[in-house]
Amino acid sequence: MKSKKKDIRALTKEQLRQFFEESGDKAFRGNQVYEWLWSKGAHSFENMTNISKATRQVLEDNFVINHIRVDQMQRSKDGTIKNAVQLHDGLVVESVLIPTPTRTTACVSSQVGCSLDCRFCATARLKRMRNLNPDEIYDQVVAIDNESRLYHDRPLSNIVFMGMGEPLMNYNNVLKAIDKITSPEGLGMSPKRITVSTSGVPKMIKKMADDKVRFKLAVSLHSAIDEVRTNIMPFNEKFPLSDLREALEYWYEKTKSRITYEYVVWEGINDRKEDIDALLRFCSYVPCKVNLIEYNPIDDGEFQQASNKAIENYIDALESRGFVVNVRRSRGKDIDAACGQLANKS
Ligand code: SAH
Repeated sequence: MKSKKKDIRALTKEQLRQFFEESGDKAFRGNQVYEWLWSKGAHSFENMTNISKATRQVLEDNFVINHIRVDQMQRSKDGTIKNAVQLHDGLVVESVLIPTPTRTTACVSSQVGCSLDCRFCATARLKRMRNLNPDEIYDQVVAIDNESRLYHDRPLSNIVFMGMGEPLMNYNNVLKAIDKITSPEGLGMSPKRITVSTSGVPKMIKKMADDKVRFKLAVSLHSAIDEVRTNIMPFNEKFPLSDLREALEYWYEKTKSRITYEYVVWEGINDRKEDIDALLRFCSYVPCKVNLIEYNPIDDGEFQQASNKAIENYIDALESRGFVVNVRRSRGKDIDAACGQLANKS
Protein backbone atom coordinates (compact mmCIF):
# COMPACT_ATOMS: atom_id res chain seq x y z
CA MET A 1 0.00 0.00 0.00
CA LYS A 2 1.22 3.48 -0.82
CA SER A 3 1.88 5.54 2.29
CA LYS A 4 -0.26 8.65 2.70
CA LYS A 5 2.50 10.37 4.61
CA LYS A 6 3.82 13.47 2.93
CA ASP A 7 7.39 14.10 1.86
CA ILE A 8 8.34 16.61 4.53
CA ARG A 9 10.97 18.25 2.35
CA ALA A 10 8.33 19.27 -0.15
CA LEU A 11 7.19 21.83 2.46
CA THR A 12 8.54 25.34 2.63
CA LYS A 13 9.74 26.70 5.95
CA GLU A 14 6.54 28.73 6.21
CA GLN A 15 4.40 25.63 5.63
CA LEU A 16 6.33 23.75 8.26
CA ARG A 17 5.84 26.57 10.77
CA GLN A 18 2.16 26.53 9.97
CA PHE A 19 1.95 22.79 10.53
CA PHE A 20 3.30 23.16 14.05
CA GLU A 21 1.08 26.12 14.85
CA GLU A 22 -1.97 24.21 13.70
CA SER A 23 -1.04 21.20 15.77
CA GLY A 24 -0.84 23.33 18.92
CA ASP A 25 2.93 23.66 19.08
CA LYS A 26 5.09 26.75 18.54
CA ALA A 27 5.74 27.92 14.99
CA PHE A 28 9.41 28.15 15.93
CA ARG A 29 9.50 24.34 16.06
CA GLY A 30 9.16 24.54 12.28
CA ASN A 31 12.43 26.45 12.03
CA GLN A 32 14.22 23.85 14.12
CA VAL A 33 12.95 20.97 12.03
CA TYR A 34 13.70 22.84 8.83
CA GLU A 35 17.26 23.30 9.96
CA TRP A 36 17.58 19.60 10.70
CA LEU A 37 16.24 18.73 7.27
CA TRP A 38 18.32 21.13 5.22
CA SER A 39 21.40 22.45 7.05
CA LYS A 40 22.07 19.27 9.00
CA GLY A 41 20.85 16.83 6.36
CA ALA A 42 18.97 14.60 8.83
CA HIS A 43 17.94 11.24 7.37
CA SER A 44 15.43 10.44 10.08
CA PHE A 45 13.27 12.17 12.68
CA GLU A 46 14.99 10.16 15.39
CA ASN A 47 18.20 12.12 14.79
CA MET A 48 16.55 15.43 15.66
CA THR A 49 17.87 15.45 19.19
CA ASN A 50 16.66 18.88 20.32
CA ILE A 51 13.08 17.97 19.38
CA SER A 52 10.98 16.22 22.04
CA LYS A 53 10.10 12.57 21.66
CA ALA A 54 6.40 13.37 21.40
CA THR A 55 6.98 15.86 18.61
CA ARG A 56 9.19 13.43 16.75
CA GLN A 57 6.34 10.94 16.93
CA VAL A 58 3.96 13.52 15.44
CA LEU A 59 6.41 13.99 12.58
CA GLU A 60 6.77 10.24 12.19
CA ASP A 61 2.97 9.87 11.94
CA ASN A 62 2.56 12.56 9.29
CA PHE A 63 5.68 12.65 7.17
CA VAL A 64 8.49 10.75 5.56
CA ILE A 65 11.99 11.87 4.63
CA ASN A 66 12.53 10.54 1.12
CA HIS A 67 16.26 10.56 1.25
CA ILE A 68 18.23 9.20 -1.69
CA ARG A 69 20.68 6.37 -1.13
CA VAL A 70 23.95 6.09 -2.99
CA ASP A 71 23.61 2.49 -4.09
CA GLN A 72 26.90 2.13 -5.84
CA MET A 73 29.90 4.40 -6.16
CA GLN A 74 32.47 3.85 -8.91
CA ARG A 75 35.80 5.63 -9.12
CA SER A 76 37.55 6.18 -12.42
CA LYS A 77 41.29 6.13 -12.97
CA ASP A 78 41.11 9.87 -13.63
CA GLY A 79 39.45 10.64 -10.28
CA THR A 80 35.93 10.93 -11.65
CA ILE A 81 33.31 9.37 -9.38
CA LYS A 82 29.93 8.07 -10.51
CA ASN A 83 27.08 7.47 -8.09
CA ALA A 84 24.16 5.22 -8.85
CA VAL A 85 21.50 6.85 -6.75
CA GLN A 86 18.50 4.92 -5.53
CA LEU A 87 15.28 6.89 -5.05
CA HIS A 88 12.59 6.09 -2.50
CA ASP A 89 10.49 4.25 -5.11
CA GLY A 90 13.37 2.07 -6.24
CA LEU A 91 14.19 3.95 -9.46
CA VAL A 92 17.80 4.83 -10.11
CA VAL A 93 19.53 7.92 -11.49
CA GLU A 94 23.19 8.74 -11.80
CA SER A 95 25.35 11.67 -10.79
CA VAL A 96 29.02 12.33 -11.37
CA LEU A 97 31.86 14.18 -9.67
CA ILE A 98 34.47 15.58 -12.04
CA PRO A 99 37.68 16.86 -10.43
CA THR A 100 40.16 19.09 -12.26
CA PRO A 101 43.17 20.89 -10.77
CA THR A 102 41.10 24.04 -10.27
CA ARG A 103 37.55 22.87 -9.63
CA THR A 104 35.34 19.98 -8.65
CA THR A 105 32.13 19.80 -10.57
CA ALA A 106 28.98 17.85 -9.80
CA CYS A 107 27.01 16.68 -12.81
CA VAL A 108 23.49 15.93 -11.62
CA SER A 109 20.32 14.40 -13.03
CA SER A 110 16.97 16.16 -13.24
CA GLN A 111 14.71 13.33 -14.49
CA VAL A 112 14.61 9.55 -14.38
CA GLY A 113 15.20 8.84 -18.05
CA CYS A 114 14.55 11.69 -20.47
CA SER A 115 11.61 13.12 -22.37
CA LEU A 116 13.73 13.93 -25.41
CA ASP A 117 15.01 11.66 -28.11
CA CYS A 118 18.57 12.69 -29.04
CA ARG A 119 19.84 9.80 -31.11
CA PHE A 120 23.39 9.91 -29.79
CA CYS A 121 22.50 9.85 -26.08
CA ALA A 122 22.18 6.75 -23.87
CA THR A 123 19.67 8.34 -21.51
CA ALA A 124 17.23 9.01 -24.36
CA ARG A 125 16.76 5.28 -24.77
CA LEU A 126 15.27 5.02 -21.29
CA LYS A 127 12.33 7.32 -22.05
CA ARG A 128 11.13 9.54 -19.26
CA MET A 129 9.91 7.69 -16.18
CA ARG A 130 9.38 10.60 -13.85
CA ASN A 131 10.63 13.98 -12.78
CA LEU A 132 12.95 14.23 -9.80
CA ASN A 133 11.69 16.14 -6.77
CA PRO A 134 13.66 19.14 -5.55
CA ASP A 135 15.02 17.23 -2.57
CA GLU A 136 16.17 14.36 -4.78
CA ILE A 137 18.18 16.80 -6.88
CA TYR A 138 19.52 18.52 -3.78
CA ASP A 139 20.56 15.21 -2.20
CA GLN A 140 22.63 14.29 -5.24
CA VAL A 141 24.59 17.51 -4.82
CA VAL A 142 25.12 16.94 -1.10
CA ALA A 143 26.31 13.37 -1.72
CA ILE A 144 28.84 14.60 -4.28
CA ASP A 145 29.95 17.44 -2.02
CA ASN A 146 30.68 14.89 0.72
CA GLU A 147 32.62 12.69 -1.68
CA SER A 148 34.55 15.67 -2.95
CA ARG A 149 35.63 16.53 0.61
CA LEU A 150 36.45 12.92 1.39
CA TYR A 151 38.35 11.94 -1.75
CA HIS A 152 39.66 15.26 -3.04
CA ASP A 153 39.99 17.29 0.16
CA ARG A 154 37.90 20.19 -1.06
CA PRO A 155 34.25 21.10 -1.31
CA LEU A 156 32.33 21.09 -4.50
CA SER A 157 32.93 24.23 -6.56
CA ASN A 158 30.53 23.93 -9.51
CA ILE A 159 27.33 22.19 -10.53
CA VAL A 160 26.14 21.33 -14.03
CA PHE A 161 22.69 19.97 -14.85
CA MET A 162 24.09 17.68 -17.51
CA GLY A 163 23.20 14.30 -16.05
CA MET A 164 20.11 12.36 -16.98
CA GLY A 165 17.05 14.27 -18.15
CA GLU A 166 16.08 17.60 -19.64
CA PRO A 167 16.10 20.14 -16.80
CA LEU A 168 13.75 22.55 -18.56
CA MET A 169 11.11 19.82 -18.76
CA ASN A 170 11.24 19.69 -14.96
CA TYR A 171 11.72 23.39 -14.52
CA ASN A 172 9.88 24.07 -11.26
CA ASN A 173 11.64 21.35 -9.34
CA VAL A 174 15.04 22.27 -10.76
CA LEU A 175 14.46 25.85 -9.72
CA LYS A 176 13.43 24.83 -6.21
CA ALA A 177 16.52 22.63 -5.90
CA ILE A 178 18.76 25.49 -7.03
CA ASP A 179 17.08 27.79 -4.51
CA LYS A 180 18.00 25.33 -1.81
CA ILE A 181 21.54 24.84 -3.11
CA THR A 182 22.16 28.57 -3.15
CA SER A 183 20.37 29.48 0.09
CA PRO A 184 22.40 29.88 3.29
CA GLU A 185 20.27 27.15 4.88
CA GLY A 186 21.28 24.80 2.11
CA LEU A 187 24.78 24.84 0.65
CA GLY A 188 25.12 28.59 0.19
CA MET A 189 26.65 28.20 -3.26
CA SER A 190 26.78 31.08 -5.72
CA PRO A 191 24.34 30.68 -8.64
CA LYS A 192 27.16 31.77 -10.94
CA ARG A 193 28.75 28.39 -10.31
CA ILE A 194 25.68 26.54 -11.51
CA THR A 195 24.97 25.76 -15.18
CA VAL A 196 21.70 24.44 -16.52
CA SER A 197 22.12 22.64 -19.81
CA THR A 198 19.20 22.29 -22.18
CA SER A 199 18.56 20.82 -25.58
CA GLY A 200 16.81 24.11 -26.21
CA VAL A 201 13.17 24.49 -25.18
CA PRO A 202 12.46 28.05 -26.39
CA LYS A 203 9.41 28.75 -24.23
CA MET A 204 11.25 27.70 -21.07
CA ILE A 205 14.38 29.68 -21.93
CA LYS A 206 12.18 32.78 -22.08
CA LYS A 207 10.51 31.84 -18.82
CA MET A 208 13.91 31.55 -17.14
CA ALA A 209 14.80 34.99 -18.41
CA ASP A 210 11.53 36.38 -17.04
CA ASP A 211 12.22 34.69 -13.71
CA LYS A 212 15.55 36.53 -13.61
CA VAL A 213 17.49 33.41 -12.75
CA ARG A 214 21.14 33.99 -11.92
CA PHE A 215 22.65 30.69 -12.95
CA LYS A 216 24.26 30.07 -16.33
CA LEU A 217 22.74 28.63 -19.45
CA ALA A 218 24.25 26.05 -21.78
CA VAL A 219 22.54 24.86 -24.95
CA SER A 220 23.27 21.55 -26.63
CA LEU A 221 23.39 22.82 -30.17
CA HIS A 222 25.31 20.20 -32.18
CA SER A 223 24.16 21.75 -35.45
CA ALA A 224 22.99 25.16 -36.61
CA ILE A 225 21.24 23.70 -39.65
CA ASP A 226 17.63 22.64 -39.04
CA GLU A 227 17.72 19.63 -41.31
CA VAL A 228 20.85 18.22 -39.68
CA ARG A 229 19.72 19.04 -36.15
CA THR A 230 16.32 17.43 -36.65
CA ASN A 231 18.03 14.31 -37.88
CA ILE A 232 20.09 13.90 -34.70
CA MET A 233 17.73 15.64 -32.24
CA PRO A 234 14.23 14.92 -33.60
CA PHE A 235 12.42 17.31 -31.23
CA ASN A 236 14.11 20.13 -33.22
CA GLU A 237 11.21 19.69 -35.63
CA LYS A 238 8.93 21.15 -32.94
CA PHE A 239 11.42 23.73 -31.68
CA PRO A 240 13.31 24.86 -34.80
CA LEU A 241 16.48 26.95 -34.67
CA SER A 242 14.66 30.18 -35.49
CA ASP A 243 12.59 29.79 -32.30
CA LEU A 244 15.70 28.85 -30.35
CA ARG A 245 17.50 31.93 -31.67
CA GLU A 246 14.64 34.20 -30.69
CA ALA A 247 14.52 32.72 -27.18
CA LEU A 248 18.29 33.10 -26.75
CA GLU A 249 18.18 36.72 -27.88
CA TYR A 250 15.45 37.29 -25.32
CA TRP A 251 17.53 35.53 -22.65
CA TYR A 252 20.56 37.69 -23.33
CA GLU A 253 18.58 40.90 -23.45
CA LYS A 254 17.12 40.18 -20.02
CA THR A 255 20.06 38.54 -18.24
CA LYS A 256 23.16 39.81 -20.05
CA SER A 257 24.57 36.36 -19.39
CA ARG A 258 26.67 34.75 -22.09
CA ILE A 259 25.50 31.40 -23.44
CA THR A 260 27.61 28.27 -23.83
CA TYR A 261 26.94 26.09 -26.86
CA GLU A 262 27.78 22.42 -26.48
CA TYR A 263 28.75 20.86 -29.74
CA VAL A 264 29.95 17.42 -30.81
CA VAL A 265 31.47 17.03 -34.27
CA TRP A 266 30.51 13.73 -35.92
CA GLU A 267 31.95 12.24 -39.06
CA GLY A 268 29.65 12.63 -42.03
CA ILE A 269 27.02 14.49 -40.02
CA ASN A 270 28.24 17.97 -39.18
CA ASP A 271 31.87 18.03 -40.33
CA ARG A 272 31.39 20.00 -43.57
CA LYS A 273 32.29 23.61 -44.30
CA GLU A 274 28.63 24.55 -44.48
CA ASP A 275 28.13 23.17 -40.95
CA ILE A 276 30.92 25.42 -39.71
CA ASP A 277 29.54 28.42 -41.59
CA ALA A 278 26.11 27.86 -40.08
CA LEU A 279 27.60 27.69 -36.58
CA LEU A 280 29.55 30.91 -37.15
CA ARG A 281 26.33 32.61 -38.18
CA PHE A 282 24.46 31.25 -35.17
CA CYS A 283 27.24 32.40 -32.85
CA SER A 284 26.92 35.94 -34.11
CA TYR A 285 23.37 36.32 -32.76
CA VAL A 286 24.08 36.35 -29.03
CA PRO A 287 27.34 36.61 -27.01
CA CYS A 288 28.47 33.06 -26.47
CA LYS A 289 31.28 30.57 -26.27
CA VAL A 290 31.51 27.11 -27.79
CA ASN A 291 32.48 23.92 -25.98
CA LEU A 292 33.48 21.22 -28.43
CA ILE A 293 32.71 17.97 -26.61
CA GLU A 294 34.38 14.68 -27.32
CA TYR A 295 31.86 12.06 -28.44
CA ASN A 296 31.36 9.08 -26.16
CA PRO A 297 30.20 6.14 -28.21
CA ILE A 298 27.09 4.49 -26.87
CA ASP A 299 26.28 1.95 -29.53
CA ASP A 300 27.28 0.05 -32.60
CA GLY A 301 29.05 2.94 -34.26
CA GLU A 302 26.23 4.76 -35.97
CA PHE A 303 27.79 7.95 -34.70
CA GLN A 304 31.51 8.52 -34.87
CA GLN A 305 33.61 11.35 -33.60
CA ALA A 306 34.98 13.36 -36.52
CA SER A 307 38.71 13.43 -37.29
CA ASN A 308 41.07 15.78 -35.46
CA LYS A 309 41.38 17.69 -38.70
CA ALA A 310 37.64 18.32 -38.84
CA ILE A 311 37.69 19.53 -35.24
CA GLU A 312 40.63 21.79 -35.94
CA ASN A 313 38.70 23.31 -38.82
CA TYR A 314 35.98 24.25 -36.36
CA ILE A 315 38.47 25.70 -33.89
CA ASP A 316 40.29 27.73 -36.55
CA ALA A 317 37.09 29.12 -38.01
CA LEU A 318 35.65 30.07 -34.62
CA GLU A 319 38.89 31.60 -33.33
CA SER A 320 39.57 33.56 -36.47
CA ARG A 321 36.15 35.17 -36.04
CA GLY A 322 36.98 36.01 -32.44
CA PHE A 323 34.75 33.42 -30.75
CA VAL A 324 35.89 31.62 -27.61
CA VAL A 325 36.13 27.89 -28.12
CA ASN A 326 37.15 25.15 -25.66
CA VAL A 327 37.74 21.51 -26.33
CA ARG A 328 36.26 19.33 -23.62
CA ARG A 329 37.96 15.98 -23.16
CA SER A 330 35.88 13.16 -21.78
CA ARG A 331 36.21 12.18 -18.16
CA GLY A 332 35.33 8.94 -16.45
CA LYS A 333 34.89 6.98 -19.67
CA ASP A 334 36.10 3.75 -18.06
CA ILE A 335 33.13 3.83 -15.67
CA ASP A 336 30.56 5.07 -18.23
CA ALA A 337 30.36 8.40 -16.45
CA ALA A 338 31.04 10.59 -19.48
CA CYS A 339 28.43 12.78 -21.23
CA GLY A 340 25.64 10.77 -22.78
CA GLN A 341 26.82 7.50 -21.23
CA LEU A 342 24.66 7.65 -18.14
CA ALA A 343 22.36 4.64 -17.97
CA ASN A 344 24.39 2.81 -20.55
CA LYS A 345 24.63 -0.31 -18.44
CA SER A 346 22.19 0.05 -15.59
N1 SAH B 1 19.17 17.40 -21.65
C1 SAH B 1 20.20 18.33 -21.37
C2 SAH B 1 21.24 17.86 -20.36
C3 SAH B 1 21.73 16.43 -20.45
S1 SAH B 1 22.85 15.99 -21.71
C4 SAH B 1 20.87 18.75 -22.66
O1 SAH B 1 20.57 18.21 -23.69
O2 SAH B 1 21.67 19.68 -22.64
C5 SAH B 1 24.38 16.77 -21.36
C6 SAH B 1 25.26 16.99 -22.59
O3 SAH B 1 25.80 15.76 -23.07
C7 SAH B 1 24.49 17.59 -23.75
O4 SAH B 1 25.24 18.61 -24.35
C8 SAH B 1 24.36 16.40 -24.68
O5 SAH B 1 24.13 16.80 -25.99
C9 SAH B 1 25.67 15.71 -24.47
N2 SAH B 1 25.70 14.31 -24.92
C10 SAH B 1 24.69 13.45 -24.95
N3 SAH B 1 25.11 12.24 -25.40
C11 SAH B 1 26.43 12.36 -25.64
C12 SAH B 1 27.45 11.47 -26.09
N4 SAH B 1 27.17 10.20 -26.36
N5 SAH B 1 28.71 11.94 -26.20
C13 SAH B 1 29.02 13.21 -25.89
N6 SAH B 1 28.10 14.11 -25.44
C14 SAH B 1 26.82 13.70 -25.33
